[in-house]
Amino acid sequence: MKKPVIAIDGYSSTGKSSISKVIADKLGLIHLDTGALYRGVTWFALQNCLYDDGSIDLQKLFASFDQIELEFRNNNGELVLFLNHIDISKAIRSNEVSEQVSLVAKQKEVRDFLLQSQRSLAEKGGIIMDGRDIGTVVLPDADFKFFLTASIDERTKRRYKELITLGIKADEQKVKENLIERDKIDSEREIAPLKQADDAIVIDNTSLSKKETIESILLHIQKI
Ligand code: C5P
Repeated sequence: MKKPVIAIDGYSSTGKSSISKVIADKLGLIHLDTGALYRGVTWFALQNCLYDDGSIDLQKLFASFDQIELEFRNNNGELVLFLNHIDISKAIRSNEVSEQVSLVAKQKEVRDFLLQSQRSLAEKGGIIMDGRDIGTVVLPDADFKFFLTASIDERTKRRYKELITLGIKADEQKVKENLIERDKIDSEREIAPLKQADDAIVIDNTSLSKKETIESILLHIQKI
């Protein structure tokens, strides 16, 4: 039996990636965290494409795509992102990347650069991909589409905890402002905005645990 293609979209810090990872393990699927790819490109830009005032030189970034090699490697079941053979899995969670990533991700050139590799990975089926435009643009024919949402206060708590666990210094108010700003830029951009696909199942997990959210998704998948 062909394994399913599952799209998980939604607002920042609704648990999309960690939930997708568990579902991938349970169903024997590949998991692709597409946000990590946008973060990886942003990290590259912060290292290599800055104006003197610290802002990103987008033209230089677009001209440098052939120098960007992003690759996920499996490290004891944990997918680790490498940029040009260097582990950037922690660096991409930094505040600097979080502050710039939505501005980078709204560029058509960046989205085109990352689109084909995301689609190719899904060609054989057996994948769960999480992001903002998976059900609408990347994989509009996915077998299952979910859209996750939760209150801003709950999402702030989750992101703050995640950063502290990673050993990254964080201020709860700034975390909240960053989530609000990213969601706004992501939802309002012209190309592939963050929005619920018409045929997506919406799950508000404000008062659901991670385990309960996973169970709810699995129930929908196994029902069919
Ligand atoms: O999922 P995560 O919060 O790590 O994503 C970081 C950013 O990458 C998002 O705020 C968004 O700007 C961008 N992104 C996107 N499309 C995706 C996944 C992420 O634009 N499919």
